[in-house]
Amino acid sequence: MARCPACFVFLTVVIKNDVRIKTCSSCFGDWVARAGLMHLVRAVAPPAPASEAGGASSPANSTTVNLQDLAVLASESDTKNPLSCPDCHVQLAIDRLHPMIPVNLQFCRKCDGVWLDVGKLPLVQRLFHELLTTTDPRLVQVREKLALAEMAFEQRHERIETIRNRMSSPGLAAGPAGGYTFGGSMLFGLEELVDILTGRI
Ligand SMILES: [Zn+2]
Ligand SMILES: [Zn+2]
Repeated sequence: MARCPACFVFLTVVIKNDVRIKTCSSCFGDWVARAGLMHLVRAVAPPAPASEAGGASSPANSTTVNLQDLAVLASESDTKNPLSCPDCHVQLAIDRLHPMIPVNLQFCRKCDGVWLDVGKLPLVQRLFHELLTTTDPRLVQVREKLALAEMAFEQRHERIETIRNRMSSPGLAAGPAGGYTFGGSMLFGLEELVDILTGRI
C-alpha cells in the first residue's frame, strides 16, 4: 500500500473519469499514472455558464475568479524539493506536463507516475483547456510553434524507435518520458499566463 510522498500517510484510491487516482487524506495531493493524468486533462469539460443558477455574475467573471484562486492555491502548495516515488521509491523529477503549462509536477521516470500537490490537478486541467481554446495572439503564436516542435519531436522519436528496433540496442535512449526541450524564453510564468487568460494584461 502506497504512502503519500509528502506526509507519509496511506494513500486512498479514488476513481475519477475512469482514472485511478491515489489521493492523500492529509495534504490532498494526488498520485496518478501519467497516461491517466493525460486522460483527465483532455477529458475536462469546458466551463458551462448555463449551470450557474445565480446569473448575477457573467461567465467571464466566474472564470477569472476560479482560475486565479486555483493558481494561488497551487503556488502555495508547491513542493519545491523532489519527493520519493510512493511506488518504487526513486527520487521524482520536477517538470511540467506540457511546456506551455507553467505548473511544476513531480514525475517518476521509472514507473511513470505523477505527483500533484493539492490544487494542481484542477489547475492543470483548466490551463490545458484554456490554452487550447484561447484566441489571445501571444498564446496562439506559442501554441502553433509548440505544435510544430511537438510534431518534430514525434517524428524524431519515431525515427529513434525505428533505429533502436533495428539495432535492438538498449543503450540508445529516446530521452525522458515525454521530454523534449523548447526555447523557454517564449513561455510564460504562471502569474503572467493567468493574467493573459483572464484578460488583465
Ligand atoms: Zn499527503
Ligand atoms: Zn516510481
